[in-house]
Amino acid sequence: MNHLSRRKFCQNILVASTFAGTFSLLGKKEGEAKPNSEASNPHLSNKKLIKLGIIICDRWHTCAGGKCLRSLRRREGAFSRYKNQNVELVGFTTCGGCPGGNIEYAPDEMKKNGADIIHLATGFVVGYPPCPSIEYFSRFIPEKYGLEVVVGTHPIPQKYYLTHQKLHTWDKPEWKEFLQPTLCDKETRLKYD
Ligand code: SF4
Repeated sequence: MNHLSRRKFCQNILVASTFAGTFSLLGKKEGEAKPNSEASNPHLSNKKLIKLGIIICDRWHTCAGGKCLRSLRRREGAFSRYKNQNVELVGFTTCGGCPGGNIEYAPDEMKKNGADIIHLATGFVVGYPPCPSIEYFSRFIPEKYGLEVVVGTHPIPQKYYLTHQKLHTWDKPEWKEFLQPTLCDKETRLKYD
């Protein structure tokens, strides 16, 4: 990650952390929420804080995390499962490049930072080709670290959806489970193109 990408990424993390402490955690869309409303809402303040880590495919190692963090704020794609729940992002890193050596260690650090759940970013499913080890990583992390794994972060961008449809990439039945969190509807996919 070069200097500018790192600085942008740190800014994004700071924004996510700020949102984590205030209104975005309430699962509202940007512009709808009111700061400090958590404190005045007894239903939300009683909810458990869910801590999560994100691991991205190293093909996008310079990614500043924009789509992942936007969808986390908006509770879209794989983050729709946290609607009306409090969430904090406690880690963000890459798999380390094929064959994904950092996945052996990164969940441990995220767990020490309080992570309950690890998200394998949407790049794992939309890459050309998709990551060949999704299924293995999805079993390894719970087995080794006792953490839940969710495949996906932001909604699948429509341009990737269309190309993979033409390539029949996701025709096999096992893809249904991996795609379910991020497939979304066309309108949502277009927002992440
Ligand atoms: S294809 Fe899989 S192992 Fe390879 S860089 Fe991407 S996530 Fe990592």
